Parts: sequence; C-alpha cells; structure tokens
Amino acid sequence: MRQCVGILGGTFDPIHMGHLRLAQEVAEAVSLTQVLFIPVGEPPHRPGPQTSGRHRAQMVRCAIQDNALFAIDERETQRTGPSYTVQTLRELRHELGPQTPLCMIVGADAFLGLPGWYCWEEIFTLAHVVVAHRPRSELTTLPVALAEQYGVRHRAQAVQLQNSAAGGIFQIPITALDISATDVRARLQRHLSVKYLVPQGVIHYINEQQLFKG
Ligand code: ATP
Repeated sequence: MRQCVGILGGTFDPIHMGHLRLAQEVAEAVSLTQVLFIPVGEPPHRPGPQTSGRHRAQMVRCAIQDNALFAIDERETQRTGPSYTVQTLRELRHELGPQTPLCMIVGADAFLGLPGWYCWEEIFTLAHVVVAHRPRSELTTLPVALAEQYGVRHRAQAVQLQNSAAGGIFQIPITALDISATDVRARLQRHLSVKYLVPQGVIHYINEQQLFKG
C-alpha cells in the first residue's frame, strides 16, 4: 500500500475523544497509512498550554497506545521558540521525500484561522489540508484569502489526495462531538468527572500527576 501520512497538531491540553475520532475518521476516509499526533511546543497563535510539553506528550501516548495507525511526533515540544506548523511540514516533507502524500488534519475552527498562521500559503506546497467539521464552527463563510485558496484547491473526493503529494483541500463531515480541552479543563477544575470525554488512561495520568486541579 502506498504511504499516505496524516498529521494532527494540537495543544492536547489534554487530548480528548474529539481529537481521537477526528484522526480516526479522517484516516479511514483518506486511507492514511499513519497519523502523527504532534503536540505543539509554544503555540504562536494562542495562550500557552497549562501543562508542560512533557505531560501533554505523555497524555497523547496514553491515548493512542492501542491504535496501530497512530504515532506521536515530539519534535515541536523538543524545539525551543514558537512552534510554526510550516517548519514542521518542511521537515516532514524533507523526510518523506517529494512524492508521498502528506495531509494536515484540522478542525473547522483551526481552518478558519489559517490565514493568521506564519507562512500559511506555503503550507499548500508541502501538504494537503483536510478540514473536518466541528460543532460551533461554520465553514459557510470563509475569510477572503482562504476562500480564494479553497476555490482553486478544493478536491471533491478523498481519493484525489492520493494522486499528488500536496496542494489540495478536502472537507469532511465527521461525527459531531462538541468536546473541547477548554471544557475538559473547566470540569477538572471543578472536580467533575471527564469520563467518556477523555480516554480512561489519560484520566488516570491526569489524576496521578494532579494536573488541571483548581
Ligand atoms: P482548547 O479548548 O484548549 O482550545 P481544543 O479542544 O480546541 O483545545 P486543540 O488541541 O487546540 O483542542 O485542537 C487540535 C486540533 O483538533 C484542531 O485542529 C481542532 O480544530 C481539532 N479539534 C479539537 N477538538 C475537536 C472536535 N471536538 N471536533 C473536531 N475537531 C476538533
């Protein structure tokens, strides 16, 4: 089977079922051979995470350990300075070679913010962008610059992403799970359960390390 790699970057503070279903459903729809979860080190576009890169990476590890399709890539938490996605994609493109399809997976909220990312247009020369629906984030009105890119790059079928290494945008409706790490943190702070929102192994790690407690 031809290699086709997906990456899911995120704060993962903590990782939750929304992230895992996103990765699983995109992997199945696009026939990805692997999904790399990449915890961000210092996010340039948002406030810093509450927990360290080491903890967030460990929570990702707990969450994905039983899924052979999933792997963790810790390059961003190990890098100093802000984590620019384009830098990670440049490195991955170099490692994978020019032919291997590479898909950057984002939720609708992240996609809408894409024009604010450092060197965002270069991303399309390095990877496809697969955008998944997310409750509360409408893709009906895109920022102008993004709508222009969407107009030229939209691919109607997932299989079209296999025919080139980068440059397409594919939209996918996934199971709508209105889960966010912000809500998970708020529950933990109030000493409420996050059972069924977060994998059990991650809950165990959070409790053991006393993370997110108010
Ligand atoms: P926070 O609430 O702290 O902002 P988050 O839950 O949005 O965090 P991130 O780690 O920032 O999680 O998200 C990483 C990626 O996963 C983003 O592309 C985001 O759009 C996507 N994502 C997160 N949760 C969901 C969800 N429930 N459904 C679809 N996509 C999601």
